[in-house]
Amino acid sequence: MPNLNIALLSRGGDRLYSNRRLIEAAQARGHDIRVVHTLRCYMDIASHDPSVHLDGKELPYFDAVIPRIGASVTFYGCAVLRQFEMTGSYPLNESVAITRSRDKLRSLQILSRAGIGLPVTGFAHSIKNTKDLIELVGGAPLVVKLLEGTHGHGVVLAETMKAAETIIDAFRQLNANFLVQEFIKEAGGSDIRCLVIGKRVVAAMMRSAKPGEFRSNLHRGGTAKLVKLTPEERSTAVRSAKRMGLNVAGVDILRSNHGPVVMEVNSSPGLEGIETATGKDVAGMIIEFLENNSKPHNTKTRGSG
Ligand code: ADP
Repeated sequence: MPNLNIALLSRGGDRLYSNRRLIEAAQARGHDIRVVHTLRCYMDIASHDPSVHLDGKELPYFDAVIPRIGASVTFYGCAVLRQFEMTGSYPLNESVAITRSRDKLRSLQILSRAGIGLPVTGFAHSIKNTKDLIELVGGAPLVVKLLEGTHGHGVVLAETMKAAETIIDAFRQLNANFLVQEFIKEAGGSDIRCLVIGKRVVAAMMRSAKPGEFRSNLHRGGTAKLVKLTPEERSTAVRSAKRMGLNVAGVDILRSNHGPVVMEVNSSPGLEGIETATGKDVAGMIIEFLENNSKPHNTKTRGSG
């Protein structure tokens, strides 16, 4: 196995747990890896000989790029990644797939089309149909989610019809994009994060919300433990990642009365929670995936999507 020259596309340095682990894992397996600051990259997008520059120098060719693009810099980050793809570098996740996964609505539509279980979810623009929209998803209690939210910000539980109407009207006044979702009460404030690499779930944890909270995000004080998945959950996670076109994904599932339902497919899953909860070397498995797949121009879109 020849050494790979890997770029870790990130705004954070090696102090971030996920970055540090990926760097350690790559070096332990004999590869060269460097952090390339996403927002400091610039490029001539019209050149016939695509390249990426940083701090006055052209970057060398990378065999593989690991994108860790924060939600707030998706647009620029994906443009930089696309440029790397045009140079022939192999992206751990392709720019088109990342863009797709960052649009919550589009993601749900793609998963729905693939027959993957989802919470009943409504989306509307007009101010006139609040009641209908609520009825469409089965009435209160329901969850209202801002489309731009992360880490559980902008995810609100409306326990009564009146609360739902008030929240929806308030979000509308703010011109916010949001969706309205059936509340999966039976999940009991827990969700399951499945870490998918290629065609396998390599690690899974159950996150449980702290008392009095329904959002299980670790950032909100949730706790995580190892969980054994059912075959159906496993296949749901793998199919979701595949449909999104992601090689590596964190698929978040709720255990509902109507089987596993997917809440979200994350294209830059954090490694700290999952490695700590499961004791698995996820970073090592990601580097191993690159070893097996990184060939020049081995993408579905070649940066053209
Ligand atoms: P974010 O992407 O901001 O983390 P999520 O959609 O993942 O937002 O929601 C945050 C948390 O809220 C989830 O981890 C889950 O515990 C809880 N949650 C979200 N949607 C539902 C739902 N429809 N039913 C029950 N709990 C939910």
